[in-house]
Amino acid sequence: MQHSAPAPRWIACAAACPGLSLCRLSTLLSAALMVIGCVATTSWAIEGNEPIEADGFPAEYPRFVSEHFVLVSHAHADLARARLELLEKTYARFYDAFEKADFEPQPTRTRLIAVLFDKHDAYVQYATDADRIDMSWTNGYYSARTNRVALVLAGDERIATREPVQTAATDREDQLLPFAESATATQAARPVEVSVSMRPISIASTAHEAAHQLAFNSGLQQRGVMYPLWVSEGLASCFEPQSIDDLFGPEHVNKSRRRDLIDAMDAGTVIPLNDFVALTRLPTNDARAVSHVYAQGWALFHFLFENHPKELKQYMKKLTTLRPGRRSVSTMRQEFIAAFGPIEKLQAKWDEALLAHQRAEREHVAQQADMVALESRK
Ligand SMILES: [Zn+2]
Repeated sequence: MQHSAPAPRWIACAAACPGLSLCRLSTLLSAALMVIGCVATTSWAIEGNEPIEADGFPAEYPRFVSEHFVLVSHAHADLARARLELLEKTYARFYDAFEKADFEPQPTRTRLIAVLFDKHDAYVQYATDADRIDMSWTNGYYSARTNRVALVLAGDERIATREPVQTAATDREDQLLPFAESATATQAARPVEVSVSMRPISIASTAHEAAHQLAFNSGLQQRGVMYPLWVSEGLASCFEPQSIDDLFGPEHVNKSRRRDLIDAMDAGTVIPLNDFVALTRLPTNDARAVSHVYAQGWALFHFLFENHPKELKQYMKKLTTLRPGRRSVSTMRQEFIAAFGPIEKLQAKWDEALLAHQRAEREHVAQQADMVALESRK
């Protein structure tokens, strides 16, 4: 599969991949193949006798374990822990938002598996091996096939070289321990010299991919079912904090996506609802067009979550009962109409919402310009 050159805005690429992955896999794989690809029979016991679901990786791979996730990673332990914390934060935010809105997300049955690579080459190779897909233009994706999230460190997050030199024995011990988190003695002995600050792109893409994984493991979405882009990518795009303290979730405005939405409005590329509600494919070889589709997906999911939560819940619930496989555009449009009513009626409200985003964005830009002017006068 050919991809365009990396887009100037990485989040579009990062976020685009799972969409492609899902669409491609939904298209190319039969229902029979939509099963977890790597089947492993091993399980490990930690924290008493609680077993962890086998994850398909060799037992000696370092694992970082939290309440709801297992992160398999050779990256520096501090970097891995920072990602794990963010995965848990996304979990908490996901359940908080959808429980409050009465979507009844079901608790995940086992710890969800994520894998974090410290080198881009290894990440690309993993994607080729595990999912038969070229992910060289991305830095994270969720695979419906393996039900795993795969992530890679951003360039300047590879801090291992700045670590204090350790003895070979300690290194070897670390590698041999099945779970890095259980290596408390070894970890405690490490000098604390490394400060971890995740790049905004890593924060946004980690939460985005985790949101996909959570949607498919909480009953909000069903693996194997074909989804319009606005459902899968719209939902996940609601979970893209730019910093660890950012507010995020479907009830909040994603300012980065809003900027892209206004860009789409200015460029006249906003797709009419009638077509957009059944859109399943991203534009190819056009990063800006991809970012416009993602922005519109985010805006539509956010709009429906805020204004028609009951209908959105019913719509999503209905989709989870569908048989895996392709459905026609007209079928998907009818499913939307059955839940939300005539599209022409909704289009008027939607147009108002778009204009409200435009006004809010202009105010935001004006405020920022004022702040810059104030700063320059100081
Ligand atoms: Zn996505």
